[in-house]
Amino acid sequence: MPDWMTRKKRKMSRNTEFDKTANIFISLLGILRPPPALKVWQWAEKYRIMSNVETSSPGPWDNQRTPYLVEIMERLTDPTVSKIVFLAARQMGKSTVFLNYLGYLIHINPSPVIIIQPTGELAEKFSKTRVSNMFRDTPCLKGLVPDDKSRDSDNKILYKECVGMFLILTGANSTAGIISMPVPILYFDEIDQYPHDLSKQGDVISIAEKMQTNYPNRKSIYTSTPTLKSISRIDALFETSSKHRWSHECPSCGEWSQFSWRNLNFETMKMRCPHCEELHTRREWEAGGGEWVAENPEAKVIGYHINALDHPSVTWDDLVEEFIEATAAEKKGDFSLLITFINSRLAESWELRGEVVESHALESRREAYEAELPDGVCVLTMGVDTQDNRLAYEVVGWGLGFESWGIEYGEIFGDPRQGDVWNRIDDLLKRTWSYRNGKQLKIKRIAIDTGGHMTTQVYNYCRARKTRGVYPIKGQGGEKLPLTRPAKKSREKGLFIVGVDGIKSDIVSWLKVNKPGDGYCHFPKDKDIDNISVNGYDAIYFEMLTVEQKVRRQDKKGFTRYEWIKPAGARNESFDCRIYARAALRIMSSKDDIMLKQIFLREPWAFPGQAVKNMDRGDGAVTSVKKKQQVGRNTQARQKGIEL
Ligand SMILES: [Zn+2]
Repeated sequence: MPDWMTRKKRKMSRNTEFDKTANIFISLLGILRPPPALKVWQWAEKYRIMSNVETSSPGPWDNQRTPYLVEIMERLTDPTVSKIVFLAARQMGKSTVFLNYLGYLIHINPSPVIIIQPTGELAEKFSKTRVSNMFRDTPCLKGLVPDDKSRDSDNKILYKECVGMFLILTGANSTAGIISMPVPILYFDEIDQYPHDLSKQGDVISIAEKMQTNYPNRKSIYTSTPTLKSISRIDALFETSSKHRWSHECPSCGEWSQFSWRNLNFETMKMRCPHCEELHTRREWEAGGGEWVAENPEAKVIGYHINALDHPSVTWDDLVEEFIEATAAEKKGDFSLLITFINSRLAESWELRGEVVESHALESRREAYEAELPDGVCVLTMGVDTQDNRLAYEVVGWGLGFESWGIEYGEIFGDPRQGDVWNRIDDLLKRTWSYRNGKQLKIKRIAIDTGGHMTTQVYNYCRARKTRGVYPIKGQGGEKLPLTRPAKKSREKGLFIVGVDGIKSDIVSWLKVNKPGDGYCHFPKDKDIDNISVNGYDAIYFEMLTVEQKVRRQDKKGFTRYEWIKPAGARNESFDCRIYARAALRIMSSKDDIMLKQIFLREPWAFPGQAVKNMDRGDGAVTSVKKKQQVGRNTQARQKGIEL
């Protein structure tokens, strides 16, 4: 009896009655075992039953329906291939190919498998739906896979012990438990949805791949619809691959080409041949079938690309209709439908054009300020980002309608656990900045990031300087959160929670404003020599300020969410500092727009004789309600030309 049978038998020996039945069943299985020379696509045709949950045409697997999947399945048992990349439109059989392989492995060639989904929740969902459906509906797997209804402890959602092999499902956000487990077969599903910020544990794909090193017959399968060009993992993998594209033979010239959106004529619904320019209908193109044509046939990684123009149950009319709807929304400023169309129908990554703020454009519009504090600056705030070996800070001047002036950006190197770096922050707290008229401002509010490993140091520093307007903050991602709110837990007293996503959206929209006024962001440069950066506003500052991008994602429940991401390893401290400086303004007053207006009307930068007489105490702050009202009256009077 082969090893896999004795193991199963051992597990079943709890109950002798059951044991007997099991023994008979196991010997039957031996007889039923098919010849091992079978390919995965042949296995699928012979054994795989598709349920109506999985496909619109349930029943025995039919290779004719999705002919493009046959070669991919052939490669799964090719000993010369260890990495297969499948970049495909939505619902074109990406995970079905893998499930056929899984069924084949369990039935014919048991080998441990790990499935990595973007999150733990998605892994659970994949297990409960796709894996369970296949186990239930494919008769040859009965007895080899755990029974869903049994209370057998081996049958867990994320860990399934099959006869002779195990199957683990996990999320790319939580692989800690499996990193030391040797496994020959890995399935990376929807890899463009994997979390990007994995600084703590390293890249999940390379960690997982290390688990395979001892297996000569290892196999990794990577599938995804793509996302944003600069960060798409599947795009990057496909670029290094053989670049097989599903192609058709031109009825006119006999050359092969892939269906492409730009070659589709919307009026005639005919596809243009890129070689001879002739137009043909889908039926004409498909008469000769299809084939995978490789751009780099010598590449070790085998990559396949197919788009929805080859989808067996989506017509070209359907796609054109979807596209027209998406472009109409785009004209109104909503890019999401078009991005979805390009990512999940055309299986192409989306390159941000126009939407993104260009760091060079911001750098080139720097201006020489007339004084340390240009006219219009009403309040100074500072944001401090805490890193392991330095602090980054930015002092920002805020004006009417959130027009802003970058005053100073800098990095203070040193260990934030030591006092030195904090002494430099103290220096900034003591410092003043002057208007042309000689009046001066100090920083009014400071927000210091408590994230990272320096939480205690930040708390201690802030607690001792609360009366000076220094607050610890913690960023929280997520849509529709208040920009700032006091933390509820008492031990976090004084802590403000910052809804960073909302602030990021505001800052990016302000960075896009291209003429001075509401929201416009000013940055300084040297007065005399063009292109000389001053006060830290150099090319790196602008690169970091614009590095994050907002992308659309599906959350664990399948809802669309927008998320801010940055390329792996990229720095973003100047963006964070700006976010915290903005948060500091909001901490100062929840009606910060009104506050800015009140200060603006007092014109603290005006020269004597021009300004209202009742000036505040130099730092531009309104000290009492009474004074505020007084100022308001003065301003109204001045506007009406009334002599007080
Ligand atoms: Zn042609």
